[in-house]
Amino acid sequence: MVDSRKVVVLGGGIVGVTTAYFLSRQGHEVTLIEKNEDAGLETSFANGGIVTPSMSDPWASPEIPRFILKWMGKEDSPFLLRPVALPGLFSWGVKFLRQCNHTAWARNAGVIYRLCSYSKDTLNQLVADTGIEYDGSRLGTLHLFRDQLSIEVTKRVAETLGAMGLHYDLLDEAACIELEPSLRSQKGLIAGGIHYPNDEAGDARLFSQRLAQYCSNNGVTVRYGESIKRIARSTRW
Ligand SMILES: Cc1cc2nc3c(=O)[nH]c(=O)nc-3n(C[C@H](O)[C@H](O)[C@H](O)COP(=O)(O)OP(=O)(O)OC[C@H]3O[C@@H](n4cnc5c(N)ncnc54)[C@H](O)[C@@H]3O)c2cc1C
Repeated sequence: MVDSRKVVVLGGGIVGVTTAYFLSRQGHEVTLIEKNEDAGLETSFANGGIVTPSMSDPWASPEIPRFILKWMGKEDSPFLLRPVALPGLFSWGVKFLRQCNHTAWARNAGVIYRLCSYSKDTLNQLVADTGIEYDGSRLGTLHLFRDQLSIEVTKRVAETLGAMGLHYDLLDEAACIELEPSLRSQKGLIAGGIHYPNDEAGDARLFSQRLAQYCSNNGVTVRYGESIKRIARSTRW
């Protein structure tokens, strides 16, 4: 048991709604305020919906400085860095570059993997406790590769995370097609794949909205259509 507090959660995206849920479960008196007419209509609407501990490798890796230089200024690169932004990024950039070595990469990957696995377990527990449905899928994810080099790079990540408990299966082209028959048209173009059976996916908007409804039915005050204009601080309580 904890001392019950009055808590206001600002913003009803997936983070705000789950925060309201857990605070309410701990016995606090919670109000959730969201400017839209429903929860999950901003970032938590338009996202990929994948829940993937398999993708716990950080961007800061030994190879990335080389790629950043190669991609700099290219508007269609996967890591877009505009030269004009460099001065403002100096302090962050130095910290980032200091993590671009194998020791830091492996340590950071481990931290992210443990956090991601914990989050996935917590998500599954929440779903079991509330019964909410959100088009969830527990079929895992299949990563496909066109060449051997890409397989080797991703395999190294899988081996690092595998030592921490991540399950993965290396598949040849035939096994990829057997797992996902719609790939048949790509026969001859797939160098191989890695299947991560414990990855999940789901609709984050549905999840946010149904959890917000659950919260509302279970003691949380949910106020839609109200915009927070400013936060007033006071030392008097
Ligand atoms: C393209 C893309 C793909 C992604 N894919 C994935 C993925 O596959 N898997 C994954 O795990 N993550 C993914 N993410 C990240 C994930 O979507 C976000 O981390 C997550 O949605 C953030 O949730 P949030 O609640 O913090 O923010 P939001 O969902 O943006 O919630 C913030 C809420 O605050 C409200 N708000 C803002 N200002 C005010 C105000 N003044 N007054 C009242 N309310 C206000 C907004 O209306 C909004 O509802 C992706 C992100 C993007 C952009």
